[in-house]
Amino acid sequence: MSSSTVINNSSTTAWDQLSLPEKIQTFDEYRSLYALSTENPDRFWTLAAQRLDWYQFPTKIKNTEFDYRTERGVEIKWFEDGVLNVCYNCLDRHIEKDPRVGEQVAIIFEADKLTEKRHHVTYAELLRDVKRFANVLKNHGVKKGDRVTIYMPMVVETCVALLACARIGAIHSVVFGGFSSHSVAERISDCESTIVITSDFGVRGGKCTPLKSKIDVALTMEQCKSVKTVLVFQRNHGLSATEDDCAEHRSSLLWVDGRDYWVHDELEKVDDKCDPEPMNAEDPLFILYTSGSTGKPKGILHTTGGYLTYVNLTFKYVFAYTPGEVYMCTADVGWITGHSYVIYGPLSNRATTVVFEGIPTYPDVSRFWNIVDKHQINIFYTAPTAIRSLMAHDNSFVTRTSRKSLRILGTVGEPINPEAWKWYHTIVGDSRCSIVDTWWQTETGGFMITPIPNVWELEGGSATLPFFGIQTQLFNKETRQPLQAPNTGELCIRDSWPGQARSLYRNHERFVDVYFRPYPGYYFSGDGCEIKENGYHWITGRVDDVLVISGHNIGTAEVESALVQHAGVSEAAVVGYPDPKKNQGMYCFVTLKDGVQESDALKKDLIKTVREIIGAHVFPDIIHFAPNLPKTRSGKIMRRILRKIVEPDVHNLGDISTLNDPSVVEELIKKCPRSH
Ligand code: ATP
Ligand code: MG
Repeated sequence: MSSSTVINNSSTTAWDQLSLPEKIQTFDEYRSLYALSTENPDRFWTLAAQRLDWYQFPTKIKNTEFDYRTERGVEIKWFEDGVLNVCYNCLDRHIEKDPRVGEQVAIIFEADKLTEKRHHVTYAELLRDVKRFANVLKNHGVKKGDRVTIYMPMVVETCVALLACARIGAIHSVVFGGFSSHSVAERISDCESTIVITSDFGVRGGKCTPLKSKIDVALTMEQCKSVKTVLVFQRNHGLSATEDDCAEHRSSLLWVDGRDYWVHDELEKVDDKCDPEPMNAEDPLFILYTSGSTGKPKGILHTTGGYLTYVNLTFKYVFAYTPGEVYMCTADVGWITGHSYVIYGPLSNRATTVVFEGIPTYPDVSRFWNIVDKHQINIFYTAPTAIRSLMAHDNSFVTRTSRKSLRILGTVGEPINPEAWKWYHTIVGDSRCSIVDTWWQTETGGFMITPIPNVWELEGGSATLPFFGIQTQLFNKETRQPLQAPNTGELCIRDSWPGQARSLYRNHERFVDVYFRPYPGYYFSGDGCEIKENGYHWITGRVDDVLVISGHNIGTAEVESALVQHAGVSEAAVVGYPDPKKNQGMYCFVTLKDGVQESDALKKDLIKTVREIIGAHVFPDIIHFAPNLPKTRSGKIMRRILRKIVEPDVHNLGDISTLNDPSVVEELIKKCPRSH
């Protein structure tokens, strides 16, 4: 039986209400709405779209084709005759409905530095700032449909820049501030931006890091000739010389007259009147290049109406959000999680969202929990990698904080191993908070498989059940045939949902090849999944992260999860290398907890642990103690690089500039027995 039959097979009552409920409270309610969403998607998504304000409410709801073999080919359109503006839905409408909302805090800014005065930005202030910045963009000739590259740290101004683009109908392409000049140049040229928005510096972990100078280098490259204007925010604008840590670096800033402009100067020249541009639902909202943990970046294209409807509803239900609550997502705006669940989902729901500039370990590993107490955060959303790195330290860093305000904890980005889940649940959440383990992708726009708090039982490590409108289907990799659950296979989605990407920017062919050709008629996620008897989904990792050793298929995520169950281990990454006898050998990079000594005895013990937990057919061939692993700045381990190290093929590592700390790679190569 497929997952949807698990959900549908008991008697469902038809949903005959005129609107969607504010919260999902019972499993029966979920089941009825799920049935409606799959049997009558037009009706369900009409109700969801009513949560937004439209200049023209759509009459055509779903018009999609997943099968590339049809005459039409793959095409995805939602609400195609609807007209709306995303920025209006995130800001103006809340204040128009109730002027008191103008005083409500929209964004709480938590600066890297503890002594910096935190500032709260109200909805009225944010709207004013967005209008003014939108006028700056217009003054520099930015029009509807133009691409704007945004290369910024995690500050309020970044949110202002995105919303200003949305307001005037420009397509933003945010490039994460950790990317190298080369990576930015590649992304600027792919979408032919004419303008770049950046900041002179960013501040993270007590360090002042340059951004503008990386843009300067990128713009010397031939492929970036399209860029005519660079708008530069000044990180510490308005601070006194003694407070401004970046001052000494600023004196060496390159400045190209006629190209570079300080935003604070440009803001002097504009007023705060700027009407939102009415946009067709299928007009592009943004392009976002995927993180590149698996190769050349793809320009994922999201459009206006379907995307906002989807992130608005998923945010509302999955966090069971009530206005007035304080919500924090630790993701950088440079990733999809930052787009959907720092900005668009929360603000379209009139939430108070926290923007955190810093890192979880600065000034110490209590930082997250101190922020929770300081701002009385009710909902906290982060990544398993952050959880694993924090649980490697003494629990007192957590338990000395109160965390009483917390109601819901969330995770995204990777499978969360049950050990980390348990720690998050019991230590951080005092066994009191629901955990929402949300599975989704840049390409999906919003949550796909996720718990809804307090509606069904949680199982640590499972993303549980599909969201409304999402029909999952497993396939067998070898036979290419659909699998009946319970089973394990490649995860596909049977029909369209409004939040999904429409294409790759100017490369529809690659879009079809990557996501629709592998299983005709289905969206292919690239992830493996196990669906159990009870319909719960367990993501096993990327399908290219499966090892075939002596005829056994072994998911690397499973081995990693077993390794971190050992008391001495904080993190593990497992990859394969070619082995003439077994086809592949298993190479395990293991990061030990603080104070745990490396030893051969420990290696033996780790091998024993893995075999006890998974089975005697699994044998880690090499254990490599690695204090640091190569990670993207969004915290994902770059297994692509680890594979190259152990293959060994260290001269073809590919782009490592997106790594948090590229020097880690050298260290690993030095210590790798296979690369010598
Ligand atoms: P690229 O596509 O360039 O390799 P990426 O896949 O890391 O980059 P994202 O779209 O940010 O970029 O990440 C989506 C992927 O993250 C999913 O396909 C899945 O592998 C993993 N993932 C996200 N959330 C979860 C989760 N809750 N459980 C398990 N895996 C998850
Ligand atoms: Mg991906």
